[in-house]
Amino acid sequence: MNVTMKEQMYEGKAKQVFATSDPEIVMVHYKDDATAGDGEKRGTIHDKGIVNNKLSNALMQKLEKEGIPTHYIQELNDRDTLVKKVQIVPLEVIIRNVAAGHFSLRMGVPEGTQFKTPILEFSYKCDDLHDPFINHYYALALDLATQEEIDTITKYSFKINEVLKKIMADVNIRLIDFKLEFGRLADGTIILADEISPDTCRFWDATSNAHLDKDLFRRGLGGEEDAYQEVMKRLLG
Ligand code: UDP
Repeated sequence: MNVTMKEQMYEGKAKQVFATSDPEIVMVHYKDDATAGDGEKRGTIHDKGIVNNKLSNALMQKLEKEGIPTHYIQELNDRDTLVKKVQIVPLEVIIRNVAAGHFSLRMGVPEGTQFKTPILEFSYKCDDLHDPFINHYYALALDLATQEEIDTITKYSFKINEVLKKIMADVNIRLIDFKLEFGRLADGTIILADEISPDTCRFWDATSNAHLDKDLFRRGLGGEEDAYQEVMKRLLG
């Protein structure tokens, strides 16, 4: 891929996005910065950017092989990756297999309770409103996405869950829940965007139920740096 880097377009909590000489391609740079509790807690997790870049790229390549279109193009180095430029659909899609986090608080169901069937939730992606919980009628009414887009996103999300559950089970990790974001290409095609990493998934060791994800940081439990490395080691060798 022969593109040159241009100006920074956007800086988020964990990533920076740069324009390139190709208008359809952007470069993502993964930082070590971590936030939790809606940005109230800030810190860094040493080499998190490297782990998330490599893991997300590896998982997206596996998903592509299973028929899920993703934004992934090419890993440039430890922290930088070329991805397809999209307009992000302002929905955070959460898939849950086991009760945890906000679900447990809201529903009074103890963390670790296995669901009979997976749950799909939408939040409106809006920092000022703290990503409020919505359903698909809100998304249609507010024109956040079309019915066809919601159907595609729903179908892809459940398929991603099945593929990821299997990949993680093979390395003795339970996939508790995770968050996905989708984007639209210039022609309107829906593809998976953002990242899949211990920042955006809950991973529990299948033997000990130890957290191997950002909850270690969110909850001040410690050991997050080692946990991120452990997930990378199990998945990528
Ligand atoms: N999640 C995320 N970004 C968010 C909110 C949630 O990546 O802004 C992920 C989180 O890591 C977890 C899943 O989505 O794997 C479900 O999170 P939950 O709604 O329970 O919220 P939390 O308790 O993590 O704030």
